Parts: sequence; structure tokens; C-alpha cells
Amino acid sequence: MGQVARYRCKSCGSEFQAQEGGGFTFELYRCEKCDLVKSVPVEGDERTPAQEPGTCGSCGGRLSRDLAPMCQKCRTRETECLNVVSFYD
Ligand SMILES: [Zn+2]
Ligand SMILES: [Zn+2]
Repeated sequence: MGQVARYRCKSCGSEFQAQEGGGFTFELYRCEKCDLVKSVPVEGDERTPAQEPGTCGSCGGRLSRDLAPMCQKCRTRETECLNVVSFYD
């Protein structure tokens, strides 16, 4: 379900590795501001978070699901997946 992959920024062309998507027992949240990744455990078929995702431990920004990885150079989310390094669940 989740993957570690190499991404390329469509804006500045820099390449980086990032994690995207959750697993069977957790959901992946990303900070809207700094792209810090936080996994939050989920329960049952409804995938109800077992705990509030809260805010980013680094910058205090809001955490969201389903955000594309952010380019750390120019901070855009206009990024594309180049190739998958590994899958996890
Ligand atoms: Zn960029
Ligand atoms: Zn943050």
C-alpha cells in the first residue's frame, strides 16, 4: 500500500527519495508546511485513527493525508514519482 520511491520535482528538477501512503495498520500524514512524515495507527475497516494526528512536531503545521511529497528545495508539491524503491504494508 505504501511505498518508498524516488521523486523528481517538476519545478526545479531535483530528485529525492520519499515515503508515500499508509499501511495496513497505520496511515501516513505529512506536514503541510515542512513535509515531515508521521505515521498514525488506525483501527478496523473504517481505518479510524487510534490517536489524533495532531500537529507537526517540527514546525507546528497542520498534518494531512494524501499530500504528494514536497520538494525540499523549492517547496512545491509538483513532483512526480520516478521509480519505486520498495513497498511496505
Ligand atoms: Zn523543486
Ligand atoms: Zn512541519
